[in-house]
Amino acid sequence: MSIRIGIMGYGNLGRGVECAIRNSEDAELVAVFTRRDPKMVDILTPNVPVYSVDQAISKKDDIDVLILCGGSATDLPVQTPKFAEYFNVVDSFDTHAKIPEHFANVDAAAKKGGKVGVISVGWDPGMFSLNRLYANAVLPKGQDYTFWGKGVSQGHSDAIRRIDGVKDARQYTIPVESALEAVRSGETPELTTRQKHTRECFVVAEEGADLERIEREIKTMPNYFADYDTTVHFITEEEMKRDHSTLPHGGFVIRSGKTGWDLEHTHIIEYSLKLDSNPEFTSSVILAYARAAYRLNQEGQSGCKTAFDIAPAYLSAQSGEELRAHLL
Ligand code: NDP
Repeated sequence: MSIRIGIMGYGNLGRGVECAIRNSEDAELVAVFTRRDPKMVDILTPNVPVYSVDQAISKKDDIDVLILCGGSATDLPVQTPKFAEYFNVVDSFDTHAKIPEHFANVDAAAKKGGKVGVISVGWDPGMFSLNRLYANAVLPKGQDYTFWGKGVSQGHSDAIRRIDGVKDARQYTIPVESALEAVRSGETPELTTRQKHTRECFVVAEEGADLERIEREIKTMPNYFADYDTTVHFITEEEMKRDHSTLPHGGFVIRSGKTGWDLEHTHIIEYSLKLDSNPEFTSSVILAYARAAYRLNQEGQSGCKTAFDIAPAYLSAQSGEELRAHLL
C-alpha cells in the first residue's frame, strides 16, 4: 500500500517533492494545495487535483502525510502548527534560531490532534544536523566545522535584487579552499567569517544604472556581504539565463576530534554534499521523513519530532529484514 501524500504550497520544493514521489516505490501524490488560484498552478503529475488551501482540512481523511513546502520566513511558522492538528506533517523550516519555538508550537498542535509533525528536515537543518550529532557523540573532544557551497543563496540573491538599478541577481557562496584543507589536515583553526567563505555575485543591471554604486552597495551591505570578500560580475540577461538558471548547492560538515589517554590521536569525520538541485535534494530528504512520520503515527505516536528523534530505519522503504541483509 502506498503512502498518500498531499503537497501544501507549490514552489521549488513543491515541485521537488512531486519529483521525489515519482521516483519512490511507496508514495503517491493525491493532492496539491495552494494559496493562489488553483487554476493558475500547473503541476507535473497528470490527473492529480490542485485545490485551494481552504479546502485542505476537508481532505484530511484522504491524506496520510501533508508536506509543507512554504517559505521559512512567514509561511511555515503559521502553516505547520495549523495543519499539524489535522494531518501528519513534514516541513523544512530552516530559521535555526527559531527552531525551539517552532517545535513547541507544532508539538502542541500535533499532540492535540494525535498526529506526528516532523520539522526542519532537508540538508541544513537535516542531514547536516544528523552528521554533526553523530560526530559529536562519537568524538566528544573536538571541534565542528560547517562550510556551505559552492551554491546559490536565495536570501543573498534576493538582497541584491532589492538594490536600486538591479534587474536580476544570483549569489554563490564558496568555501575557502585553504580553510577546508587546514581543517582536513587535523588543525583546529579558529576561523573568522571572512576566512571560511567568499561570495560571488552575478548581476544584471538596468540600462544606464550606476554600476560602481551597485557594486559598492553590495559589498558594504551589513549582515549579508560586509563581513566577506565579495566579487561582483555584471552580466547580460541572456548570460544569466544560460549560465545561472539552476539552484546548485552543497557543503561540508567536518568534526576534528581527539582520542587517547592524552588526546594524542586525531580523527576527521567529513560528510559532504554536492547538489545539482538544492530543492530537489531537500525534497528527497523530506519524502523520506514523510515515510517516517506515517509509520510513527501508525505505531500510535504523536507530537513534534526532528531528525534527531527518528531512528534511521524509519526513513527507508525497505523492511528491517532487508536492511539488515543488505545495508548493515
Ligand atoms: P519558493 O519561493 O519557490 O516557494 C515558497 C512558496 O511560495 C510556495 O509554497 C508557493 O505557495 C509560493 N509560490 C511559489 N511560486 C510562486 C509564484 N510563482 N507566485 C506566487 N507564489 C509562489 O520557495 P522554495 O520552495 O525554494 O523554498 C521553501 C523553503 O524551503 C525556504 O524558505 C527554505 O527555508 C526551505 N529550505 C530548507 C532547506 C533545508 O535544508 N532545510 C533547504 C532548502 C530550502 P503557494 O502555492 O501557496 O502560493
